[in-house]
Order: sequence, then structure tokens, then C-alpha cells
Amino acid sequence: MLKTDVLIIGGGLAGLAAAKALEGKTDYLVAERENRPGGLSATLKKGGFLFDYSGHLLHLRWPETSKFILGALGSNCVSLKRDARIYAHKSWTPYPFQANLSGMPGRVKAECVSGFLKAYNSGNSGPGDGSESFSRWTRRVFGDGISEHFMLPYNAKLWQYPLERLTTEWCAPFVPMPKPEEVIEGAYGKKAEGLGYNTVFNYPKRGGIGALSNALARDLRGLRLGLEVETLNLKKGVANVRHFGPVHFKRLINTSPLNEFIARAEDAPAAVKRAAARLRHNTVYVLNLGVKGVKSDMHWGYFPEARFPFYRAGLATNFSKELAPRGCASFYIEIATDGRVPDLASAETAVIGGLKACGLIKSAAQVVERLWLKIPCAYVIYDADRTKALPVISGWLKSRKAGSIGRYGAWKYSFMEESVKEGLEAAGALLRRR
Ligand SMILES: Cc1cc2nc3c(=O)[nH]c(=O)nc-3n(C[C@H](O)[C@H](O)[C@H](O)COP(=O)(O)OP(=O)(O)OC[C@H]3O[C@@H](n4cnc5c(N)ncnc54)[C@H](O)[C@@H]3O)c2cc1C
Repeated sequence: MLKTDVLIIGGGLAGLAAAKALEGKTDYLVAERENRPGGLSATLKKGGFLFDYSGHLLHLRWPETSKFILGALGSNCVSLKRDARIYAHKSWTPYPFQANLSGMPGRVKAECVSGFLKAYNSGNSGPGDGSESFSRWTRRVFGDGISEHFMLPYNAKLWQYPLERLTTEWCAPFVPMPKPEEVIEGAYGKKAEGLGYNTVFNYPKRGGIGALSNALARDLRGLRLGLEVETLNLKKGVANVRHFGPVHFKRLINTSPLNEFIARAEDAPAAVKRAAARLRHNTVYVLNLGVKGVKSDMHWGYFPEARFPFYRAGLATNFSKELAPRGCASFYIEIATDGRVPDLASAETAVIGGLKACGLIKSAAQVVERLWLKIPCAYVIYDADRTKALPVISGWLKSRKAGSIGRYGAWKYSFMEESVKEGLEAAGALLRRR
């Protein structure tokens, strides 16, 4: 029988950061079910290419976590200025769409600008409290033109959930809100720079984003790969680990998806289980392509139109040339579903057709490597059920003195730095309470 002071479920960035903060200070065990660390922040090798689970870029905003992350990467890090675009109406325009309409045809610009001004002049275009539906919110804040040409079709493709039922609690950090003069200037001349959360980002020079996870995992004495927590009892402080047996713990940090974690918790009351069963998420399939002869400096592009099966496509080799053999580029292309399994062969044909249609490649013959990666739980759905369920679940976890953190443990739309921050904070809180 194994005993540990702190059991951490999951060795993604949240779990690794927590472990790093506990190392040498208390006894801990990270149970990670995969045979590699990093969770979604991992990099896989195929045929001379290194592929991430779609673009994983470091948008650092907090001093302590920036220091922690950049310290782990050391000299293996570059800083890049964003080149993100939108492809619509057979034209490219810079991101964010609402403040950079210059590339759009005249009719589209006019609809977007006049709609925005109408919404703004109504005096009712404030950000709101997050409870409003996305479909209502976007028309109220951005007007009909921007909503119909970008916000509604893009978000319908991404979330795969009715936008009348999607709430807007997630929008504040992720959806840039330009002023009227920025919308007009962006449409009729000046490129709006500096808008949005990701104008500058960091990325490892070598090894893909997995280089960060590997750097954090190195020297962690309590990290155990290939250990899946199957069931647990928080009251008794016991977790049953597949092919391993019981692990007794005093304190617990969960980073696995909250809905699955509660389903595994034998002592969760029925009301808590019912709440967790109402949590929804989409699924993302990432097609990574190794391609010859690509000429584009773009980092990534958004594709709102239904004729493209993907909502986003990025050129990973524009973050780091080391991700591909000389003369080759690599793309990541993201397709979201509501859980339905797409036919991957026809999806690939449609993706290649889409890349040709927007001019990123000329022919299917340029593709020399491919790797599909599935992210079963990719974006958690913000709806009324989530709003009601989370306090019920967190109330019970608090009563058991257990923490559930990270993008999926806390069930939110967050990013790598936030997972690291929550890992460091959870470990710090445990150490203070000793
Ligand atoms: C398509 C997409 C693109 C993204 N792009 C970016 C980006 O550009 N920049 C950015 O900052 N963030 C991005 N993110 C978010 C980023 O991936 C996450 O914020 C971060 O990786 C989450 O880390 P985590 O440790 O919280 O969770 P995870 O990485 O999910 O780690 C959880 C770990 O728990 C393990 N686990 C699960 N169940 C069990 C179990 N029962 N027993 C043991 N182990 C278990 C899993 O194997 C996994 O390793 C993106 C996310 C998606 C979906």
C-alpha cells in the first residue's frame, strides 16, 4: 500500500507546476495516466516533424508565472509578434476582425461599420455581466454586420453548441472590444495593432511546446507516468489506481476533467454527481500536416465560413523552424465537433481543399506527412447548467478540503499560464496549511 501526503491527479502543466512547488517540501505523488508528461501541452514526433496538440503559444501576463515559465525554458525560448488573420469573402484581413476590416470587400466593411456604430450609438453596448446569451450579446455589442460576418459563424463552428444557450462569461479576456474610432480606422486604412490578449507570444526555440512540460517534469521525484486514477474516496483519502492498487493520501489536487473526476469519486453525493453530469464540452480534432513549398509568414488564421470545415489553421513552423525538416512547413488545422466522430478521410480531403481555396497550398501533392490528434474534452461549454453546477460541486470539494484546478479541473476556458498559476497557488496553499 502506497501512502503520500499530497496526491496530484494529472501531470499536465497544472499538475507539474504544483509538483514543482511541492518538491523537497513535502511528500507528493503525481499520477499521470499517459506515458508522457504535459497533458495538452505535449509534442509528438512523426516522420521528422514535431506536432503539438494544435498551436500552443505562451501568452504571458503575470510576473510570477512568467518568471517560472521562462525560467524553466531558459535560453530555449523566442518571443514573436503575432501575425494572425481572418479569411472570409475570398480575402484575408488582419485579426481581430472587428478592428481590422480593411481587407474585406466594400459592402462587408460598410455593413460592419454601420452596424457597429448603430449598436454603439444605442447606448446599450456595454460588456454585460456574462449571463447574456452569446448571440444576443454579440449583436448588442458589435452590431449585426460584425456578428453575421464573423462572430456568429466563427463561434458556432468553434463551440458546436447553440449560441442562444452559450453564455458570455468567457468573453472578457478573449474577445477584443475596439472603440468606434478603432473600427473606422481599421476598416478604412490603419491596421489596429495591440488589440487582444495575444499580440506577443513566447514559444520554445526547439522541441515544440512539449519542451516546457519536459523541462518542468525533469527532476520531479514524485511524478509517475502510466498511472490512471480509476476511482477514489475523498472522505477515506484513498485512490484506486489501475494496474497499481490503492494510494492513500492526506490532501488532493485534481487536474483531470471535473465531470470525469466527480464520476470517479465514490463518496460524491447524488446532487453533486447530477451537477457534474450536466457539464458539457466540445471535442476538437487536430489535423497536423507536414507540407513542402509553403510560402506564408502567417502564424494562424480564423475561418468563419461554413465552406471551410475547420475554424482555425496555423503554421507551426512560423513559431519554430525546428519543428520540420529543412524545406518543409507544418500546419495544424482544428475541427470542432459536438462529440460526433467525423469521417477523417473525407475531413482531410476537405481540409486540403480549404487550404487550396485560401491560397495556403497549391496542391495535395505538397503534403508529405499527416497526424490526426483528438482532444476529447477541448472547450468547456459555458451555459446555464455550468453556472448552476459549479457552485454545487465546488461546495462539496471544499467540504472535503480538495482542490480541482487547471483548464478542465476548474472547468473553464483558460490557457497554459493560468494552469501553471493555479498549480503554484494550490501547492502554496497546501504548504501554508500544514
Ligand atoms: C485546441 C486548443 C488550443 C489551445 N491553445 C492554447 C494556446 O495557444 N495557449 C495557451 O496558453 N493555452 C492553449 N490551450 C489551453 C491549454 O492546452 C491548457 O490551458 C493547458 O494545457 C491545460 O493544462 P492542465 O494541466 O490544466 O490540463 P491538461 O493538460 O488536460 O492535463 C491534465 C492531465 O490529467 C491527466 N489525467 C486525466 N485523467 C486522469 C486520471 N484519471 N488519472 C491520471 N491522470 C489523468 C491527463 O492525461 C492530462 O495529462 C489550448 C487548448 C486547446 C483545446
